Amino acid sequence: MSGLRWRGLLAAAAAVGALALGGCQPHKAADVDAARLTNADKDPGDWMSHGRTYAEQRYSPLDKINAANVNTLGLAWSFQLATNRGVETTPIVVDGTMYVTSAWSLVYALDAKTGKLLWQYDPKVSRAIGHNACCDVVNRGVAVWKGRVYVGTLDGRLVALDARTGAVDWSVVTVDQSKPYTITMAPRIIKGKVMLGNSGSEYGVRGYVSAYDADDGRLIWRFFTVPGDPSKPFENKAMEAAAKTWSGDWWKFGGGGSPWDSMAYDPETNLLMFGTGNGLPWDEKARSPNGGDNLYLSSIIAVDADTGQYAWHFQTTPGDSWDFDSTQTLTLADLTIDGKPRKVVMQAAKNGFFYVIDRTTGKLISAKNFVPVTWARGVDPVSGRPIEIGDDHYRNGPTVMFPSSFGAHNWHPMSFSPKTGLVYLPAQEVPGAYGTDPKFAYDPGQWNTATNTDLNTLPPDPKAKAAMINSMKGELIAWDPVAQKEAWRAVHKGPWNGGTLATGGGLVFQGTADGHFNAYDAAKGTPLWSADTYAATLSGPMTYTVGGEQYVAVGAGFGSVFYLVAGFATDNGNPLNGKIVVYKLGGAATLPKPPLIRLPFPKPPENTASPALVAQGHSTFNHYCLVCHGYDAISGGVIPDLRRSPLIGDAAGFKAVVLGGERKDQGMVSFAAELKDADAEAIRAYLIKAAVDGYAEAQPAKK
Ligand code: CA
Repeated sequence: MSGLRWRGLLAAAAAVGALALGGCQPHKAADVDAARLTNADKDPGDWMSHGRTYAEQRYSPLDKINAANVNTLGLAWSFQLATNRGVETTPIVVDGTMYVTSAWSLVYALDAKTGKLLWQYDPKVSRAIGHNACCDVVNRGVAVWKGRVYVGTLDGRLVALDARTGAVDWSVVTVDQSKPYTITMAPRIIKGKVMLGNSGSEYGVRGYVSAYDADDGRLIWRFFTVPGDPSKPFENKAMEAAAKTWSGDWWKFGGGGSPWDSMAYDPETNLLMFGTGNGLPWDEKARSPNGGDNLYLSSIIAVDADTGQYAWHFQTTPGDSWDFDSTQTLTLADLTIDGKPRKVVMQAAKNGFFYVIDRTTGKLISAKNFVPVTWARGVDPVSGRPIEIGDDHYRNGPTVMFPSSFGAHNWHPMSFSPKTGLVYLPAQEVPGAYGTDPKFAYDPGQWNTATNTDLNTLPPDPKAKAAMINSMKGELIAWDPVAQKEAWRAVHKGPWNGGTLATGGGLVFQGTADGHFNAYDAAKGTPLWSADTYAATLSGPMTYTVGGEQYVAVGAGFGSVFYLVAGFATDNGNPLNGKIVVYKLGGAATLPKPPLIRLPFPKPPENTASPALVAQGHSTFNHYCLVCHGYDAISGGVIPDLRRSPLIGDAAGFKAVVLGGERKDQGMVSFAAELKDADAEAIRAYLIKAAVDGYAEAQPAKK
């Protein structure tokens, strides 16, 4: 019996007040199978997989909430998550139950009508694993299948939970846990196989996608994204071909290419498509000294979903040297281009170009930059390769360019409305500094980019630096993928805004970094509705129905990589827990407004260190500490602001944390294997200098 008919019966049963209808089984939780997922469009009240359907359009046909009535949208309920780090989850809703995740891979089942907690699962990820996560300890959501809920945990497990209770049915380790692998992505399930990738290409891994049997966690196939040791037999022909595009000893570091977020599936061709990450290290010359494309880094790859056998690839950034992961949303659509029907996969890539690719062959149809791009003039329509602007991957000296490792578009999911024919894309303009790190030596398990990304030295003038920071932009772009041009845009206060949802009600929903959740007219871009969420609202919004009533849900919370690295861009000192906020027409619940906490800035110790020691400490800080504790040691409020720490005035206490691992339970692991006493002292000297500067800046100006 189909899920639809089941629910029809249940509704009928509920209507006569007799749930235990003779001969009927009790309602099965997460009752999703191949037929139901493939026919998700016939089941629009549910949101059964990460991008709603296998095409990952994040378009819902639901139209009860529409342009005419969205102004009456109000809060139905909110739920406070148990963690205070970034919220990147897209909720799944099946038959009235919502499944969401939060930081540290926690899973929650909620009553989708009321927000009541049904169960919660904590995989108890060691907080020390946080050190291996480049981009906060986030999770983007679960998959559901035949009564189970599946989560990839930060420490590399795939866990199957009983959807009714949250009890563990089975759990498998999907990575070599001695290596710095992490998992933040949502699994996808195709015909009983759980598809899962991993992260870690900044640290030292070899990326791959695996397919596990949804029943028992048995590994069915694995596709590596970069070649291993060429002196050993290759796993397949795709790896043999890829190895010809590398040189040197890349496999000793792992090579990278981790497929850490996007996937889409085309049932017609049975192809699973996924995006791969940057190389390890970022600087191509440090990983493949003789250059080369370094397949299949920064690529879109298609494999047979049953076997994992390679079908095609399209590399967006050959020989990537800029952390241009090609892991952004993969959106499948059938478009009419030059009068012909085309089956396409689309990606608004981190590198700034919007790609429309034939998803049956992997051949480029068109590509166009959607924000200003300074590293390439365009994409060659025949070869599909970017036409680079010849600084030879910063060989000719340090450079500042658009986009940067933050991406012109990052993990924040985009949506596509078949009704308007437009893609709704969270875009941004964030510059980045790149330079060769002449002292680079591979350091197992550490930040291994071989790139100097220090904004302090590039440009050296503080005013120029401030101007660069102020030039950062964030926008919602409605993009016409056929004409490859912008239809409209909404400009936000800054970068790193939320994913989007398009609906049959002619609406586009998007959260913003500054704590709002907005609705726009999908065709024209007119702002129609806005609500305060009081937290960065970055995750993918979704919509569903319970009892015929339509709801719109989104996750919100501080954290996510931008707020770790770019604390200078936010004045938030408020590490409150994340939340799920859910709206309906006429909703009258209220969201308490949290107080804006401005952390006190205690008077720092006197800076007595030599400029040389401070500079040395700054460089060491950038290598080991920046990715969590922020540029210029300015915290975004989620991880302690070291400039405000009493430990910087306490050499022994500082050493006990940095080298002694005294706070490893809170995620601050020991760096004793990497740093000596003198290094810790240099970092401390730099932090005192940063604190002195920050303290001076925080004082009210004297007239
Ligand atoms: Ca990356």
